[in-house]
Amino acid sequence: MSEYLIEIKNLHKYFGKNEVLKGLDIQIKKGEVVVMIGPSGSGKSTFLRTMNLLEKPTKGEVYFEGTNIADKSVDVFKHREKMGMVFQQFNLFPNMTVLDNLTLAPIKTGRMTKEEATIKAKELLERVDLSDKEVAYPQSLSGGQQQRVAIARALAMNPDVMLFDEPTSALDPEMVGEVLSVMQELAKEGMTMVVVTHEMGFAKNVADRVLFMADGVIVEQGAPIEVFDSPKEKRTQDFLAKVL
Ligand code: ADP
Ligand code: MG
Repeated sequence: MSEYLIEIKNLHKYFGKNEVLKGLDIQIKKGEVVVMIGPSGSGKSTFLRTMNLLEKPTKGEVYFEGTNIADKSVDVFKHREKMGMVFQQFNLFPNMTVLDNLTLAPIKTGRMTKEEATIKAKELLERVDLSDKEVAYPQSLSGGQQQRVAIARALAMNPDVMLFDEPTSALDPEMVGEVLSVMQELAKEGMTMVVVTHEMGFAKNVADRVLFMADGVIVEQGAPIEVFDSPKEKRTQDFLAKVL
């Protein structure tokens, strides 16, 4: 068994003739918090989506807990259940209460009984400080509250890794902090996390490792202090000069 929870080898993704991911090799250990930064259009979302097979890799291997989930013979759904994903646009089920949003997947997949799923959901809502919103519908919540529900919903399946795609980019500025603090708490508890974000403060404070992606390749990676304080590559320097 590999020492890595996730190991990606020579990952390529084309959309038609457009090569969006150009041969990525990335290893992630259990408990690691990896933050991916980079310009818009560089392939960050495609990378996350390919990692949990929402997009099919054109070429390459994606080992998750020792199994190459890019292999056609593998039951992707079974493995994807162990990868929680949080999107920029929350993607909550609008016609369900907050509690039902959390219990749906655990019940539907047969992982939990309704009672078990409900107990777990209530615990999670308490953790994200939304116990009073169990019977509320998503559209009655603020963006920050919706995103905290989305995080709790992903956690309801007891994932082994959490993938975040710009989770605070759609939020009003005053709500960014409440979402980042939930994420920081998760990181502290030892959750393995891959986070695409423009929140450089979060990257500096919470990441074990920062990856800078541009034009479908990992240009540079290292501890936050290395990447932010002494970037080696010109492309990293130029990007940081714009965002910091
Ligand atoms: P980022 O998240 O870094 O902004 P994306 O992964 O969203 O970048 O996009 C990378 C490139 O892939 C862009 O050129 C985008 O237009 C293209 N792309 C992304 N998704 C699709 C798709 N479903 N079909 C065709 N092209 C896509
Ligand atoms: Mg994106």
